[in-house]
Amino acid sequence: MRKISMVDLKSQYEKIKPEIDKSISGVIDTTSFINGPAVKEFQTALEKYLGVKHVIPCANGTDALQISMMALGLKPGDEVIAPSFTFIATAEVIAVLGLTPVLVDVEPDTFNISPEAILKAITPRTKAIVPVHLFGQTADMDAIMEIAKKHNLFVIEDACQSIGSDYQNASGEWKKSGTIGHVGCTSFFPSKNLGCYGDGGAIFTNDDQLAAKMRSIVNHGMTVRYYHDDIGVNSRLDSIQAAVLNVKLKHLDEYALARQQVAAAYDKAFKDQPELTVPARFIRSTHVFHQYTLLVKGVDRNKLPEFMATKDIPAMIYYPVPIHLQKAYLDPRYQSGDFPVTEDLCSSVISLPMHTEMDAEQLNYITSSVLEYLKGPRK
Ligand SMILES: *Cc1c(COP(=O)(O)O)cnc(C)c1O
Repeated sequence: MRKISMVDLKSQYEKIKPEIDKSISGVIDTTSFINGPAVKEFQTALEKYLGVKHVIPCANGTDALQISMMALGLKPGDEVIAPSFTFIATAEVIAVLGLTPVLVDVEPDTFNISPEAILKAITPRTKAIVPVHLFGQTADMDAIMEIAKKHNLFVIEDACQSIGSDYQNASGEWKKSGTIGHVGCTSFFPSKNLGCYGDGGAIFTNDDQLAAKMRSIVNHGMTVRYYHDDIGVNSRLDSIQAAVLNVKLKHLDEYALARQQVAAAYDKAFKDQPELTVPARFIRSTHVFHQYTLLVKGVDRNKLPEFMATKDIPAMIYYPVPIHLQKAYLDPRYQSGDFPVTEDLCSSVISLPMHTEMDAEQLNYITSSVLEYLKGPRK
């Protein structure tokens, strides 16, 4: 049996090696390493795939979030609502820009931001909401957009884990995750669903003016060379990463299908176990399974990763500590117990290996190992 990893990038590369190698050496041959034709090609292809007017490539998903907030003109003192159950980058950029992160709880079934909690957190200083489409399915965007409209707020979608997932709104229209709010952000970190071979990210919007501002900000606030109309940053997607993405974007839907098949096999093996809750599917969204995350109750969740390690199977806890209890983010506004759903998730979630190259033998070995733990004396 092939060694099991959380994400098997090596086996994936082996299948597309000729295409990838050719695409990368194409960039090296022309030496257009910064903003070369590969970047423009990727931008256009991604705009088409997402059905969005503008894609602005940038250096990583964290920058994508930061640049969005800069372009929207958010200022110190402005409040930005974000879930406490997410990867740190979501709240980090809010803090880095001197804005005030206002954390809220999530839904117990989908793990995504709770619209009800958003409503309760709104004050006269609130300027934006950052829904995170956690683990690969889209948050309740109808409810979020309605709140945003009513309270005149910007919506910045953190689609770093959900690229390719489809959302159906109440009028029946399908939209790609990240193209519903004012701005959407994604990451091409290698282990993400559309991962490059280093760091990368992109911002999406249908707003021409905002797009122009963001294109300027990613490149030192410059539209005409050496004339700086905005305070910007240096955050470009490099051409070699774009070359990798040009190949992998063509495979994205097939990769999502492979992940969904792994999820279906996990569901089948675990759905009747009283100690496990398989991931709920939000009716309005497809799920692209950036992670397959179980809830573990009634057995020791914390010893499960150790047990899996003895079988040479990785298992990860995303995320063990909510943002409001992270040392750097401690704030008198928040105490332990404030976000009961988030805190409960942090003590009961576990993510199993999830990638595009899993075979039946590996799946069988993973599921039987989890079932063995449930039956075992470790209870
Ligand atoms: C990965 C991720 C980011 C940050 O992306 P980077 O490319 O690593 O900077 C932000 N938010 C979420 C939810 C993520 O999963």
